[in-house]
Amino acid sequence: MRRLIAGTGWKMNIGATQAARYAAQLAPLVAALGDAIEMFVLPPFTSLPAAKQAFSSFAVGIGAQNMHWEASGAWTGEISAPMLVEAGCRYVELAHSERLEHFGETYDLVRRKLNAAVASGLTPILCLGETAEDKRRAVADDILNEQMSLALRDQPPERIPTVILAYEPRWAIGAAAAAAPDYAAERHRGLRKAVSDRFGAEAAAEVRIIYGGSVTPGNGEALMAHADIDGLFVGRAAWSAEGFADIAAIVARAAIQRKKQ
Ligand code: PEP
Repeated sequence: MRRLIAGTGWKMNIGATQAARYAAQLAPLVAALGDAIEMFVLPPFTSLPAAKQAFSSFAVGIGAQNMHWEASGAWTGEISAPMLVEAGCRYVELAHSERLEHFGETYDLVRRKLNAAVASGLTPILCLGETAEDKRRAVADDILNEQMSLALRDQPPERIPTVILAYEPRWAIGAAAAAAPDYAAERHRGLRKAVSDRFGAEAAAEVRIIYGGSVTPGNGEALMAHADIDGLFVGRAAWSAEGFADIAAIVARAAIQRKKQ
């Protein structure tokens, strides 16, 4: 049974002081969940030391929103995977649509970053998503397959379950509404089939595929009603501790439901 996930990326928000406050507010709100689900927060780099300290006493892992593919060297302004590990990161987000759109990142570059991340023991959260135009042309599944295949090209099948796939339709990020749950679930099923075709049934059965893109406490339940959606990856709605706690509670309820089935 796949362990469900609730995660949030803070983008360029929530500095160190605020991060410590967020953690202090979140701790009592999620204490009852124990380790029923996996939770992560992805603060900006400068908030990582504060987050490491503040989240260390309860079950929320921290991660970064980006990294460089080399371990060290003349790369002004960059941060490497070993540095993230030293800073207490367990996760690193790769290929967020804002990295693709504003910083020209490609899935070939993402492949190099992902290779470096796994070599350092970080869990990559690999974002995959079609544009609005891809959706209109009904080629979303092909695009997701292509992105996944390129980013994971160098990985052996046994490594796949250690990667978290995040289906984040680019048109649904920072938008007014999330993807319709049925539409999202169809993409998750298609992606799992693509993983199966490429890496085998075992890898596909184990890999977690979470959904991100305008998730709120109002639509999270309907998304989590689909068995192929293994968790929620949230921006705006989880930038307050209360918001993240609400999302975590939805995911925890889905975990209980699935255990009963
Ligand atoms: C995101 O940026 O990955 C994201 C899911 O943001 P939001 O939830 O605000 O759409």
